[in-house]
Amino acid sequence: MKYKVLYRKYRPDNFDSIVGQDYITKILKNSIINNQVSHAYIFSGPRGTGKTTTAKVLAKALNCANPENGSPCGKCEFCKNFKENPDIIEIDAASNRGVNEIRQIIDNIKLTPTNGKYKVYIIDEVHMLTMEAFNALLLTLEEPPTHTVFILATTNVENVPITILSRCQRFDFQKIKVEKIVELLTNVCKKENIKITEEALNEIAIVSEGGLRDALSLLDQLSKNECEITLELIENQIKVVSQKTINALLDTIEQNNFDEFFNIINDFRSRGVDYKTLVKRIVESISKKAKNIMLHGSRERLNFDSYKNMIFELSDSLNKININVDNYTILEMLLLNYFSINNSKVENEVVKEKKETLKAKNESNIIEDKSITNNDENVKENSEIDENLINIRINNCFYDAKRTYLEDAKDEYQKLLNDSNLEGKLKNILIDSEIVAASSKNLICTCLNNHLVNLANGMLEEIEKLFSKICHKDYKIIFLTKDRWNKEKEQYILDLKAKKVYKYIEEEKQKEIDNSSVINDVFDISKVEIV
Ligand SMILES: [Zn+2]
Repeated sequence: MKYKVLYRKYRPDNFDSIVGQDYITKILKNSIINNQVSHAYIFSGPRGTGKTTTAKVLAKALNCANPENGSPCGKCEFCKNFKENPDIIEIDAASNRGVNEIRQIIDNIKLTPTNGKYKVYIIDEVHMLTMEAFNALLLTLEEPPTHTVFILATTNVENVPITILSRCQRFDFQKIKVEKIVELLTNVCKKENIKITEEALNEIAIVSEGGLRDALSLLDQLSKNECEITLELIENQIKVVSQKTINALLDTIEQNNFDEFFNIINDFRSRGVDYKTLVKRIVESISKKAKNIMLHGSRERLNFDSYKNMIFELSDSLNKININVDNYTILEMLLLNYFSINNSKVENEVVKEKKETLKAKNESNIIEDKSITNNDENVKENSEIDENLINIRINNCFYDAKRTYLEDAKDEYQKLLNDSNLEGKLKNILIDSEIVAASSKNLICTCLNNHLVNLANGMLEEIEKLFSKICHKDYKIIFLTKDRWNKEKEQYILDLKAKKVYKYIEEEKQKEIDNSSVINDVFDISKVEIV
């Protein structure tokens, strides 16, 4: 037996088996029962929602000798020979756009039907007709012979002239609900003996976005593997991201799980999943979370505003899609903004380490200030120490910064970025960083945002070791945001113009005079010595 694709095999042949368009089929059935037939219909709606199928069922019902409850009987001569019936004329406007095709219709329209009561013209994708063809069609619609019915179908009703629309009875087909698609797919799988997991069934229904034809085609394609259809199979075979993975991605943000976050994004990247669909699904999932917070309250870390901003930013990113840029990097950077850096693993380790150092100092009574015994104060104090180090390294880089150093360092840095030793999280942090200033011993680099800067500065030792290993040079490195760098650079230029000279500050010495008020005087650029 010849193989019939599923969506043809399971195409409904009466109104009652059309899925998800109950309102429309009810009206059409009543119009057949009450013999109140319109001379022109327009069916609009997304692809795969049953427009053409409904048009065919209607055409059959219009001529059926014994319609049953408004649906074609399927037994009379007309129903049986429907496919060969010369009175049912199907035109695909996508390939027959011109006025000649429409003229042909008009020329033959006056001839009475050969078999049944009506000649039925089904024009698919009617919005594709040329303006000339529309005008010709309009003349016919204005005064149609009593024995003709036009059924126009379109996925793009906005492109159908209003003059045409005003002469048609309009039906807007809705996307079919996921549950309805699942129900139908379940039946088809049973009949076809297709093994599939519940998760996979649900996924097919979601991915097909309310289009039953797409859902059946997908099932068809997947069933050819002759093994059980699972979520993994779907993700591997078609470039979609399952709801499960989207949820896992959003969980990484909620739980500050950087490692898993980068793993998931890298997986998207290596599989080349469609960026637009991906972002669309993330937005849909986030909006569900945001609604949940509004309706039921929520104990999640991110609040309604965060999700709202995320949605705007993600939608906005779709307008910035650039074929020259790795779009997943945009997604990565955008979502990284929503990680809580204070709770991040890296930060925790850094903070923990510093807290311990400070505790040791406290115990040995080096520091007598009582406020330092307070834990929060400890953290604050530590971040100030960090800031000191940043300022020292900026100062030391400016001390003997030169363009030639910068050019050399840039070449070396490129080596580092391309090296196979740079991998995992570190690679993700550094991949979009760049060197903006270099001296004989120091480098200043920038990252795309504050979170990446904090992450990079939290791994300085590791980065410096790697640089030394790959490029055979020992640099002290510091990472800044671009904004901060621009400000530092401006100050540096002002200082140069004012002929100020930078004094090199030993980092070790600095540690010894820790917590002393002298620190600020030492590296405050405005107070450096003037020649
Ligand atoms: Zn019939």
